[in-house]
Amino acid sequence: MSVVWSHCFICTASLQLPAHDVLLTVHTRQKWRDTYRFVCPLCHEENVKPADERIVTLLVSSSVRIERVHIPDELDDPARWDQRRLTWDDILDFAVGAGAHDHLAREAAPWRSVQ
Ligand SMILES: [Zn+2]
Repeated sequence: MSVVWSHCFICTASLQLPAHDVLLTVHTRQKWRDTYRFVCPLCHEENVKPADERIVTLLVSSSVRIERVHIPDELDDPARWDQRRLTWDDILDFAVGAGAHDHLAREAAPWRSVQ
């Protein structure tokens, strides 16, 4: 059985992990960072670490589990990443558009009666 050496960034333990306990996440677009994850057997915290090309190659050769994530084209469209802040008007527009304005009014009612 293959093993993977790593360190836990929570308890700093040096670990020798069975390959099947490590999950490599590879994205279909290069600008999305590949990662690998495992749960530390000592402190039981999940570790998620970046995986550059060299680490991906090592992990694949160690037969870790591999998850391939398809990144839709729309997420690379700069127009979708408008840096404008969300305003109260945006939230109200969303609530009205979603037909949830009655629910929001009920949620806000206890606060109004405190005055
Ligand atoms: Zn740990």
